[in-house]
Formats: sequence, structure tokens, C-alpha cells
Amino acid sequence: MTNRIPLKHPRYLSLKTREKLVDGLKNGLVVTHGLIAHGRGEAFDYLLGEHTSQNALCAEKVASCLLLISKTPVISVNGNAAALCSKEIVKLSKLTNASIEVNLFHQNQKRSEVIAKTLIKDGATEVLGVNSKSKFAMKQISSGRRFVDKSGILNADTVFLAIEDGDRTEVLTSLGKTVISVDLNPLSRTAQSSNVTIVDNIIRAIPNMIDFAKKFAKNEISELSALVSQFDNKWNLVQSTKLIRHGL
Ligand code: ATP
Ligand code: MG
Repeated sequence: MTNRIPLKHPRYLSLKTREKLVDGLKNGLVVTHGLIAHGRGEAFDYLLGEHTSQNALCAEKVASCLLLISKTPVISVNGNAAALCSKEIVKLSKLTNASIEVNLFHQNQKRSEVIAKTLIKDGATEVLGVNSKSKFAMKQISSGRRFVDKSGILNADTVFLAIEDGDRTEVLTSLGKTVISVDLNPLSRTAQSSNVTIVDNIIRAIPNMIDFAKKFAKNEISELSALVSQFDNKWNLVQSTKLIRHGL
């Protein structure tokens, strides 16, 4: 499919990314609403210059350290995330010992299973959020995202999520969980209510996090904790907003 896009096209990467989502739609991973959500992300990415800023890189480093020091970290995966970087999600989960859980705004058992199968094909040993017997409904969340796995998000100390609706982010942080998010819009409720917000495209953010997870894997927990506690998310978000203003 992607070979229809000429390699020399100046927008090659952006078009290839769109193709991945369109393929994801055809294969039952992505819903049409996901394409719209991606469009919102693209607009912000355009203004950010479509590259990882220094402050995004800093948030990616802190996020990797946080996953490494967490006791029960979970990577929450939706259709767009799986369509764009399933292999990388699996790699990051292995490096940080994080569980992977499918969690969807537009809840659908068949789609959850398709997403889980994709992750397993890409190397995941276990994917939570698919077995209805281990699901728990969080009454504070009104969307399909309320169904969480009892041994996954319900029990997690840290939840890593991307391309997310603000409702759940706010509930997870209010329950005392540490939330790491990838969101190209620094003004969204997800970005504003997370503990560590990565204002970057998920296709760049996760590979960078993999590099940091490898780099810091053998460091002392105290060193990683120090790096995490020095991080100021509000300041970091202001820097991203400034970059967008410059982009304009
Ligand atoms: P919120 O509910 O947090 O206020 P929202 O309603 O603006 O956010 P949603 O559709 O709920 O937006 O969530 C999608 C979010 O994901 C958007 O903020 C969008 O910028 C972001 N996004 C979309 N595609 C990507 C991507 N590839 N990488 C990173 N972020 C993305
Ligand atoms: Mg929303």
C-alpha cells in the first residue's frame, strides 16, 4: 500500500503515516473517529516543525525513567497507537517491564481482539484488556474507556497513554496514578492533567523512549528518581506552547 507514495515526495513520512492509519481502518484496528483525531494531531505537529523539540526529548527521557522505576506500569494502547507503532510499543514494554493493555474510547470486543492480535504478532507475550472476566468498570469514566483490566490499569501505579481523551486522564490522576501522555496538543485536557506530557508525535516519541530505556536500564533507582523529581511538567508545557507560537 505504502509503495504508492513516491519516496521522494516531500511529505513522504506524513503520507506514509496516514496510509498506516487507513490500513488500520481497513484491518479493523482503527475507527473513523481515529482518523479525525490524527488530523488534529497533524495540525499541531505542522506548527511544531514535525520534529522532536528539546523539551519533548526531555519529557521522553523522564517518561522512560519513570517507567523503569514504576512497580506496576501499564502501557495503554488504542487503535491509532497500535496502527502506528505496535512493534515499538512491544519493545518499550519489554525494556521497562510494563504490561500492555488495550483500552478503547469506542469500546468493541472484536476490535480489542484485533489490536491484541497485532501486538502479539509483533512480539507481545501478554495483552490485557481483552478478557471480559478480568474487566472492571470504573464508574467515574463515562466512555468505553471505563473498562479496565483488574490486573492492569486498575492496579497500575503508572499509566502510559497516547492519543487520549481528557476524561480518563483526569480520572486516573485523581485516583493517584502517575500518568505519562503523548499528545501533540499542549492545550488538551490530557496534556494539561498528565504528570509527564510528551508533546511529540507518537511515531517519534516511542522510538526515543526506547533509546532512553536502554540507556538508563542499569542506573540506580535513586538516580532515575532524581531525574524524575527534577522535571517540571508545567514549565515543559509552556515551552511547547511557545514553540507553536514561533511556528506561527
Ligand atoms: P482532550 O480530550 O484531552 O481535551 P481532545 O478532545 O482535543 O483532547 P481527543 O480526540 O480527545 O482530543 O484526543 C486526541 C488527541 O491526540 C489530540 O489532542 C491530538 O492532538 C492527539 N494526537 C493525535 N494524533 C497524534 C499522534 N500521532 N501523536 C501524538 N498525539 C496525537
Ligand atoms: Mg477529548
